[in-house]
Amino acid sequence: MSIAQYYVTKVEPCPQCGGSGVILHPYWREYWEEFDNRLAPTKAEHYTFWRNHGYNPYSPPSEEITCHNCNGSGCIESRASLEEALRAIFPKMLGEIQQREELDLEAADAAAFAAEWEAQ
Ligand SMILES: [Zn+2]
Repeated sequence: MSIAQYYVTKVEPCPQCGGSGVILHPYWREYWEEFDNRLAPTKAEHYTFWRNHGYNPYSPPSEEITCHNCNGSGCIESRASLEEALRAIFPKMLGEIQQREELDLEAADAAAFAAEWEAQ
């Protein structure tokens, strides 16, 4: 490496859980897919489903489990080059600066109009 490289930490919402940190238990996903088109499964269907999946029907697993992709944090951290970060951030910053300048111009116009009105 001939010249120094600069990096920043990139933090994004976890694509697996969408930032919530939890996901639906895979067995529960299967459960709802199987019984989705009805109001509720029958007691017998509920018991059969959980017994077939190795669970006591009276104490099935939690419906939501910690997301394994982000370990429950809801976000993914990675290293990004400073150049990549600036390319991502600058358009947003320039947009905000432009918006602020437009608001300032509108305010200046309103002030000039009010001064003109007062002078008449
Ligand atoms: Zn996640």
